[in-house]
Amino acid sequence: MKNEIRVFCPATIANVSCGFDVLGVALDNVGDEMVVRKTTAKGITITKLEGQDLPLETHKNVAGVAGLALLAATDYTGGFEIEIYKKIKAGSGIGSSAASSTGAVWAMNQLLGKPFSNLELVQFSMKGEELASGVQHADNVAPAIFGGFTLVRSYNPLDIIKINTPKELYATVIHPQIEIKTSDSRKILKTTISLADGIKQWGNVGGLIAGLYTEDYDLIGRSLQDYIIEPIRSILIPAFDNVKSASLEAGALGCGISGSGPSIFALSKGKEKATQVASAMQDVYNKVGIPYDIHVSSVNLEGVKIIE
Ligand code: ADP
Repeated sequence: MKNEIRVFCPATIANVSCGFDVLGVALDNVGDEMVVRKTTAKGITITKLEGQDLPLETHKNVAGVAGLALLAATDYTGGFEIEIYKKIKAGSGIGSSAASSTGAVWAMNQLLGKPFSNLELVQFSMKGEELASGVQHADNVAPAIFGGFTLVRSYNPLDIIKINTPKELYATVIHPQIEIKTSDSRKILKTTISLADGIKQWGNVGGLIAGLYTEDYDLIGRSLQDYIIEPIRSILIPAFDNVKSASLEAGALGCGISGSGPSIFALSKGKEKATQVASAMQDVYNKVGIPYDIHVSSVNLEGVKIIE
């Protein structure tokens, strides 16, 4: 058995418009890399962290916290060293913390001979999410572990379903260079919703799931609507309405806030359309004068994976 592996840890879009805290999808072209190696010394040490200014201390880094949760559940007497190469910016809304927690536990599980199921790996990773945002949400870590689209049907008990990914579905993500902390963007949400909004929202969640399974792109587009979270959170994102209308005009199936923002995502049929959507989004921010990162990506179907 190997003593060391290098893994790709995908960025993820959580919520996917109508599925606050329950839907997520993993991306192929954006993600971190990590090297994880077994050590005879107990515990977890983060030996390197490049690309972002984040804490190296095990208890302050989501990779360390998620890894310790896994270690506590094994009778393995050694430990692990972790190197983190961040490409996803923290607080971007595309699962920066989830990439690190899932990469750590997925790699450790491989090095230990896979004693844990994907569901258990999600549970360990959720401890890392709790450190990052104060809440053990699974909508980023589930797609990062399982790949593709995932639905968290229930949190208690945890029940995760991997959803079919239509072959021609592409994502465009624009990240305006402002930081919104998940914990802050949660604070502004209301804790109750109206029955009328609920009816519209769960109609769309059902429609989106059906559209993904039947590869019905029009149905996916009609269902990518969020009546509950987007109207509140979009206020924190500069030029959100303009980016959204420009994306839809450029042919996107739908457009919304990625996770807790500030990244905005769109889903499109085909890479060409997704690229046109990217330039429509860029035009808006170029005019407003806000710097950004932009990504066009196919859906990552396998989640965290070994790279050479
Ligand atoms: P995202 O939505 O992109 O995951 P969050 O705001 O949820 O962003 O998470 C970022 C927070 O988690 C930051 O406060 C950051 O300091 C903390 N954090 C701790 N360890 C890590 C890590 N390895 N990678 C990313 N963020 C981390």
